[in-house]
Amino acid sequence: MKKRILVTGGAGFVGSHLCRRLLNEGHEIICLDSFFTGSKDNIVDMMDHPYFELVRHDVQQPILLEVDEIYNLACPASPPYYQFDPVATTRTSVLGAIHMLDIARKCKAKILQASTSEVYGDPEVHPQPESYRGSVSTTGIRACYDEGKRCAETLFFDYQRQYGVEIKVIRIFNTYGPFMNPHDGRVVSNFIVQALKGEDITMYGDGTQTRSFQYIDDLIDGMIRLMDSRDGFTGPVNVGNPGEFTMLELAQKVIELTGSKSEIKFFPLPQDDPLQRQPDITLAKKELGWEPHVNLEEGLKKTIEYFKSVI
Ligand code: NAD
Ligand code: UDP
Repeated sequence: MKKRILVTGGAGFVGSHLCRRLLNEGHEIICLDSFFTGSKDNIVDMMDHPYFELVRHDVQQPILLEVDEIYNLACPASPPYYQFDPVATTRTSVLGAIHMLDIARKCKAKILQASTSEVYGDPEVHPQPESYRGSVSTTGIRACYDEGKRCAETLFFDYQRQYGVEIKVIRIFNTYGPFMNPHDGRVVSNFIVQALKGEDITMYGDGTQTRSFQYIDDLIDGMIRLMDSRDGFTGPVNVGNPGEFTMLELAQKVIELTGSKSEIKFFPLPQDDPLQRQPDITLAKKELGWEPHVNLEEGLKKTIEYFKSVI
């Protein structure tokens, strides 16, 4: 059945993939974006489609749109960008959640929140199951993002309990792939762009900190499965690839796959940078029948091809 679907942050990295997939499935898409970190280049291929509509809007302000489903992605996700105007980051997460939940309440629309593994902070439990409540600084430089996302989750569950809004909350772990902004500042895009340009690889800290990297196609599959999951299943549910790598391993893999002569240069580790991160995906397997299919090497190859074409 054709649905009218609102994707906030639809011109960003994840949002543009989601819009494309939903459009290809035959739905009508309203892509809402302020273009803070997103770009028209990410969605230009969809602009002429009769069922694709672009709305330039900042979710810090209210708006009324009539839709059947909402994917709420609007929020900068890269540390340099979310720390650029941290007050706006918290406002985007919190006011953005309220404004989108108000639409869902009025239209009786189903709404999915793009939450994050950052709600676990610098975790003391490893790997992280959804039941782990996290170890997050309320005062550090990452708090605008982490606490904003935590408060958004709270709002989602309160709108469900208080107003009966149908909610779905996904906790996304580090995701990479084509359409990442080459200047985005996240580790995968930085390392690939540096390797392709033959520049030094910027390693923060000693490179022993870990992340678990998921390829974009696996994430999009998990998001849509969650939106379509059984009534009453709200999550939060982790969606990520349990393959865990140190940043040194990532740098070496990128250098190998690009055949680059770049050297690794070490810089101080930013404040509150989590030391380790790996999703426990037991719940996603059970409730969504979901698991990742693209391993790091395969995903990096596709991402490297993309960056070769844009830089
Ligand atoms: P991105 O920065 O590429 O995309 C975010 C989009 O939101 C951009 O198009 C940006 O212009 C838009 N935006 C930002 N503030 C806005 C505002 N106030 N009003 C309207 N639009 C606004 O980031 P992404 O990687 O595509 O992330 C998308 C979502 O997924 C974010 O909510 C992020 O927190 C979440 N997430 C992503 C990852 C990841 O690894 N990519 C991990 C965890 C969670
Ligand atoms: N990082 C790095 N060099 C870079 C960018 C990031 O060593 O050029 C490190 C960063 O300190 C962190 C990891 O890579 O330990 C992942 O960083 P990213 O910003 O991609 O995601 P997040 O920290 O939000 O998981």
